[in-house]
Amino acid sequence: MASAHKLDCEAAASDCRFIIQSENEEEAVELAKNHMKEVHGRDYTDEELREEHLQVV
Ligand SMILES: [Zn+2]
Repeated sequence: MASAHKLDCEAAASDCRFIIQSENEEEAVELAKNHMKEVHGRDYTDEELREEHLQVV
């Protein structure tokens, strides 16, 4: 069974309903990084996103 990598932006920014879910971790990190930068103006490293924001579901 493949697991998916999920970022629920609501956990990081309480007023945002953005959710990313992908079976590809690289893609999930990339999408999350773009979203954080474009929408929230925050720069996260891949590592920070993986460790602090991405859940495996
Ligand atoms: Zn967001």
